[in-house]
Amino acid sequence: MSIIVLRNALLFDGRSDDLQDDVDIVVEDNRVREIVDGRASVGNATEIDVEGRTVLPGLIDAHVHVFAVHLNAYRTKDYPLTYLTVLALPRIKAMLDRGFTTVRDVAGGDFGIKDALARNLIPGPRAFVGGPGLTQTGGHGDHRSRTDSSDDLCGCANGLDFTRRLVDGPDQMRLAVRDELRKGADHIKVMASGGVGSPHDAIDDCQFSEEELRIAAEETALRGTYVAAHTYGSKAVQRAVGNGIRTVEHCNLIDEETAIFVRDHNAFVVPTMVCYEVTERHGDDMGLSPVVMEKLRYVIEGGLRMLEYCARSGTNMGFGSDLMGEMEFAQAHEFVIRAQVQKPIDVLRSATSINAEILNRSGELGCVAPGALADMVVVDGNPLDDIALLDGQGENLSVIMQDGRLYKNRLPAREVSTATSAPASAAH
Ligand SMILES: [Zn+2]
Repeated sequence: MSIIVLRNALLFDGRSDDLQDDVDIVVEDNRVREIVDGRASVGNATEIDVEGRTVLPGLIDAHVHVFAVHLNAYRTKDYPLTYLTVLALPRIKAMLDRGFTTVRDVAGGDFGIKDALARNLIPGPRAFVGGPGLTQTGGHGDHRSRTDSSDDLCGCANGLDFTRRLVDGPDQMRLAVRDELRKGADHIKVMASGGVGSPHDAIDDCQFSEEELRIAAEETALRGTYVAAHTYGSKAVQRAVGNGIRTVEHCNLIDEETAIFVRDHNAFVVPTMVCYEVTERHGDDMGLSPVVMEKLRYVIEGGLRMLEYCARSGTNMGFGSDLMGEMEFAQAHEFVIRAQVQKPIDVLRSATSINAEILNRSGELGCVAPGALADMVVVDGNPLDDIALLDGQGENLSVIMQDGRLYKNRLPAREVSTATSAPASAAH
């Protein structure tokens, strides 16, 4: 049994409106054992005095693509998975360096990378994975060129890659969902509208029939999980949510009525604002086509409006980034963009307790509470006063604890071997 105590913390527990001042957080193995107002008495422990710094639950990013190693996806089409994996490792580690102790991969991540992370073979966040994103022929995930007439659409060697699977018709949808769950998917991703990165569809297009969407939702529900849908416009979002889909990603172009529709169906919007802003800035240099650049500018305009509609309606909002390749450095800038519309505490809730609810892991992830998994970050300063403290590459994070392990600690730690109390602060 190992015990670590974080002393003298200002705690945001992931949910409450009020921060708890001057508490000790006792971690036993990989779980939070107790939170003590004032000084906890423990023996045989590692003690770290965080000196009033802010402790947050480990951050969660609910929309990443760990294998998207280049912004321009066409560059990777001849990469074998072995090479791609090697390129992905530093970007996965960098996510943890930024304080993201958990991520949800929504196209590409599989049980192999999930297990390697869970077994601590490589540094990085714990991962929830969905396997390939399901796309219809001509949909957002179908990146074949117009001159490609290959009709091998079996979903295994279909001219696409392991991040996408072509699915057409109700029977194929049922089969694909069952098959991806068999292969270890935690959730299923479907492409339910046009997208920015796909050159051959309009962004407001609706994709998949309602029957196909409903089948995906039913099959996942039978297995205790859910569907995440890539969607931009009001109609696509309402078709997805109305047919049982639980999280709608991006949603930049929705109106207020649709935000309310999502709220009333107890579904979740997962905005991914930063990817448009940063990709628009660098896209020309990275070789994105004029069509894609034009689409980017269109969705940026809608994004802030969408945040306002959701904030005003009380729609559940998760937190995602969706950054590809070279743009990954901007992941934590999502906090700053969101805070243009929402209160910092609401943005932090999105990236902790609400994202944990999306993952069906409330009480275990995204919170600091007795029994929760010991994922925490210690911030120099108070991000509720200045959310930009979370921006960057983790420069303002003194401690990153994941699953009870000190992945990063730049504060003095001392070993105590008998029951003791640290010197009380002035308030006690
Ligand atoms: Zn995405």
